[in-house]
Amino acid sequence: MKNEFDAIVVGGGAAGLFCTAMATQRGRRVLLIEHGEALGRKILISGGGRCNFTNSGTQAGNFLSANPHFAKSALARYTPADFLALVERHGIAWHEKKLGQLFCDGSARQIVDLLQAECAGATILTNTRVERVERGFAVRTSAGDFRAPKLVIATGGLSIPKLGATDWGYRLAQQFGLKLVTARPALVPLTFLPADAQAFEGLAGVAADVEATAGGARFAERLLVTHRGLSGPAILQASSYWQPGETLRLDLAPGQDLEAEFLRRKRSGERTQVKAVLTAFLPLRLADRWAQLHSLDRPLAHARDTDLRAAAQQLQHWHWRPAGTEGYAKAEVTAGGVATDELSSKTMESRRAPGLHWIGEVVDVTGHLGGYNFQWAWASAFAAAEAL
Ligand SMILES: Cc1cc2nc3c(=O)[nH]c(=O)nc-3n(C[C@H](O)[C@H](O)[C@H](O)COP(=O)(O)OP(=O)(O)OC[C@H]3O[C@@H](n4cnc5c(N)ncnc54)[C@H](O)[C@@H]3O)c2cc1C
Repeated sequence: MKNEFDAIVVGGGAAGLFCTAMATQRGRRVLLIEHGEALGRKILISGGGRCNFTNSGTQAGNFLSANPHFAKSALARYTPADFLALVERHGIAWHEKKLGQLFCDGSARQIVDLLQAECAGATILTNTRVERVERGFAVRTSAGDFRAPKLVIATGGLSIPKLGATDWGYRLAQQFGLKLVTARPALVPLTFLPADAQAFEGLAGVAADVEATAGGARFAERLLVTHRGLSGPAILQASSYWQPGETLRLDLAPGQDLEAEFLRRKRSGERTQVKAVLTAFLPLRLADRWAQLHSLDRPLAHARDTDLRAAAQQLQHWHWRPAGTEGYAKAEVTAGGVATDELSSKTMESRRAPGLHWIGEVVDVTGHLGGYNFQWAWASAFAAAEAL
């Protein structure tokens, strides 16, 4: 194998594969290095095995970053419609699940196959460790030494270590003097403090439509009680905005006025249990438990107005303090990463290290749940490939 290339890409996930494909198709000689046994392993498990490969409504507002404007340029130059056109060219059947989320009808494997087919002509090394990188760029690996004037880092974040996640990209950033925004698990289930664990014991599997608010962001989606805490799309989304020690605000009956409902039905003399009123808004097991916990396990007529008001307030303005997150083992993504002010938003190239580009999740751009993270991987990869 010749060891001189136009560009070397490190990381064979979504961003690295797509960048390799786009640069190769522009006539560049590209070497892709992946330390794992296989390419695109996270894609294979994504979207419950069907890969939510983009979101048709993608906007910069769907991403967290210290600079909320950074992603705009790349997202505008490679859009969800562009990726969808590619999916259709490969004859992959797809469907919209909800809220613009596009999934394969078949399997996520189809997206990995698409990417590998698009990489035709590139040199790809798997099971290969990068040992040293020097300016220029000289890359020493377990499979030999390689050189290229351009180096693209697509090593992703810290989520799901068992699928090959490492902090290698962050360490390389430090080697080149680039600032990092502290990494933290995002799109991650949150855990109960002991008192809540007791209160929710036996309710794992219960789900409800809620509104979850954290750090000023509000999400109206599903909540799921787990054995360790709360999860489901509403909690995963809010977790990206949650900081340790803070509370999340939960409304378990969004769009309703529970207090008015309780008092109206009490005044009209209804002979019903409080929990029967609650079951119109909450799943039976949760309504039951809530009534027990708030001493409202009684007929509506016997409940004091102040207790009903307090219960309604708690259900609709629940300030829930999580113990923490389930960590990188369960986090769908990693927030933080290489600081965007170190990079050109047009080319993803480091200002301090010309020729060194950063794409995908390793950068401090983190999408909401719903196909946005892959769209960022494609768009940032495309932006870098245009400059290789
Ligand atoms: C369970 C799960 C489901 C998800 N579902 C979706 C979804 O449906 N839609 C969506 O938009 N997003 C989803 N995501 C998020 C999405 O998978 C990531 O945001 C996306 O894969 C990031 O792409 P990337 O190429 O930057 O990083 P990755 O896909 O993580 O790829 C990084 C690659 O670099 C390799 N690597 C790491 N260190 C080194 C090194 N030192 N040398 C060589 N190689 C290295 C890794 O092995 C890996 O192959 C999901 C994530 C998880 C965990």
